[in-house]
This record gives sequence, C-alpha cells and structure tokens, in this order.
Amino acid sequence: VSTWSAVAAGPPDPILGVTEAFKADKDPRKINLGVGAYRDGNGKPYVLESVKKAEEILTASNFDKEYLPITGLAEFNKRAALLAYGADSAPLKDGAISVTQSISGTGALRIGGAFLARHYPHSKAIYLPVPSWGNHTPIFRDSGLEVRGYRYFDKKTVGLDFEGLKADLRAAPEQSIVLLHACAHNPTGIDPTQAQWAEISDIVKERKLFPFFDMAYQGFASGDTARDAFAVRHFVSQGHQIALAQSFAKNMGLYGERVGAFSLVTADPAEKARVDSQLKIVIRPLYSNPPVHGALLANAILGDKALYAQWEGEVKGMADRIISMREKLYGLLTNDLKTPGEWGHIKSQIGMFSFTGLNSDQTKVLAEKAHVYMTADGRISMAGLNANNIVHFAESVDAAVK
Ligand code: PMP
Repeated sequence: VSTWSAVAAGPPDPILGVTEAFKADKDPRKINLGVGAYRDGNGKPYVLESVKKAEEILTASNFDKEYLPITGLAEFNKRAALLAYGADSAPLKDGAISVTQSISGTGALRIGGAFLARHYPHSKAIYLPVPSWGNHTPIFRDSGLEVRGYRYFDKKTVGLDFEGLKADLRAAPEQSIVLLHACAHNPTGIDPTQAQWAEISDIVKERKLFPFFDMAYQGFASGDTARDAFAVRHFVSQGHQIALAQSFAKNMGLYGERVGAFSLVTADPAEKARVDSQLKIVIRPLYSNPPVHGALLANAILGDKALYAQWEGEVKGMADRIISMREKLYGLLTNDLKTPGEWGHIKSQIGMFSFTGLNSDQTKVLAEKAHVYMTADGRISMAGLNANNIVHFAESVDAAVK
C-alpha cells in the first residue's frame, strides 16, 4: 500500500481554478475574468515600457546572480518604503521603519503573520473584512493567528456596511489585530472614503487595535500612487504603529517576478534594529533570502527620475483603461440592453475588481452557456474586458439575469 493512499483530494483553488476551466474551453468567444492580472486593450498580458527599459539597464550593467541578504536589496527596501509612507513620514525620516523585501504581497503577509504570531505581545486574533481576498484566511491561519471577521460589504446597497464595520471593530477585544485593505478592496472594489478612514483610525486608537495594512494595488485605484496611499499615511500621521504588506505585482506588472516588501513602524532606530534582527530569524528558515531579479527591476524604476515618471504614467494608463471599461459596461447594461437591476456599482467601485452581484448559479450559467469565466462570488476582473469582448460579456450577463 502506498504511503500516500490516505491523502484525500483537496478542492481546487477558488481563483486559480477558474483559469484552469477557462484554459480547457475551446470556444473562441471565451473570456477569463477570474484572475486579477491586468490585460491590455487586446486582452494580452502587458509588460510596462518602464520595466522593459529597466531590463535593458540591468542587462547593460552586467549584474551577477549572487544571493541577496536575508532581508533583500537594501536600496529597494528604502525606495519601496518611500513610495508607501511618503517623504513626509516622521518615522521614515527618523529611521524607525523596519523593512524587508518579500516574495510579493503574499510573502509579505506571511512574514507579517509569522512575526506577529511570535512577537505581538497581545491577542493573537486577526480580524479580516467580510469578504476579503480568499488567501488571507489560510495565510494568517497557517502563520499561527486566529482568524475572525468584521462586517464590510452590504449586500442590499452593494456598498460599504460602515455601521457594521464600526460596530464590529468597537466590539473586538482590545489590542486585537485588524487587517485593512489600503485601497482597491479585493473582492468588492469598495473603499472607505477619506472621512471614513479618519473615523476608522479613531476607533483603532480607542480600542488599541493593531492595524495591518495590505496594499496590493497602490496606484491601481485612482491612478495616483500618493492618493492611493492615503489610508496608510493617515494612520501613520495619527501615531499608529502599523504593519504593511506591499506588492509590485499589479502596479509594475511584475506578477511572476514576486516583488514585495513587509514593513513595521517602530519607536526609534534602536528598536528598529532589534525588529530587523528578529525579521531575519523569521525569514531565514522560510526561504533564506528573496529572489533578486524583480527587486533589481523595481529598484531601477523607483530610483531613476525619468523611469519613475514614465512608470507613474503607465500605472495611470492601466487605471484609466479599467475605469473606461466600467463606464462602457454600465452604459451597455443600463442604456443599450436595459438589463433588469441596478448597475451603478459597476461605475462607483474602484480598482481591478467589480463585485457584480451575480450569484453562483448565474456565474455557472455564464461559464457553461457563454464561455465567460469568473469566481463563484460574482467578482469580475475589469482588466479582462476590452473593446473586442465587452459586448459579448454584457449580452451574456443580460441573458443570465433575464
Ligand atoms: N493582497 C490582495 C488583496 C490581493 O488581491 C493580492 C493579489 N491577488 C495579494 C495580496 C498578493 O498578491 P501577490 O502575492 O501576487 O503580490
């Protein structure tokens, strides 16, 4: 009998499983709106021009393939922190932010989870918005934290349940950890307003909660990296010692390069040095040190004035194309097809995703009858839509709800 005969088959990943079904479909009209990866106006993966230039600079520099230190490329870490916290950040100026390179956003969340599980001196419970990115629960559970939820999405209004959110954060035991999506909430596409963020910051202070920000889409929500960092910067300006996970997968299109950063705001440089040493002790047995290539690319872009400006323009270009698809889709459903239902949320939601309100039966019909693939919760990646497929998509949705 085989050693592994008792291993039961696990369920497919709810998001990556959609891509598998899409790949198996041979119909030319098929559309994949499952995975959150940007596509250009022709539905093709997009390598940014700024990234191509950075590749050329790297090749010309004849760089080697030596190991990075455990916490990665120091210059990259500095520049990633500057992008997130801003040049005016007091703890950044004081040298009190501990930063490590990470294996994209997922790795940053996992390092953070492991660090908190080992060193956070209070409750080891983390509150996630309901719903949240599907991988948050297993990441934090496997890190050794206890996962709980706070209300976020209001089904009736297809908007933010702000009263529920506030009530749940007020009811959480003092010093619990709370996970906040910095911008472009996944999967709902609904963010708090700046005034609401200020209220959330006050509650977090009142209840002595520990804020852990996940910023996987800086620049993707509004097209402006500083504007999208509002929540992070506001919390830091209010004296919160935050944890932060950053990803360069979406905003630099570096998905498979796995470039990210994890940071913690500490009290002063001496405390930062102690935290740095413990981050190394968390990371060393996990993967020893991070991959070098993508970090060199991101570092080249962040460190060069002209490339940086070009990159910011390209981020805005991606965000603008998504916004134009929202307007087009809304127009098709409400004006052209007169599809039953209220579709204003398609336009008001932001970032890569839209929570359409389609139920799991409807998403099944869309896959089987129309070759349109999305996650069962009705989330679509707006970036998968373009001028060639949006009419087929709108007509298929129309047929599914009629
Ligand atoms: N957080 C959120 C909210 C995400 O949507 C994603 C990507 N889907 C990530 C983190 C991490 O992605 P990556 O590991 O590719 O950076």
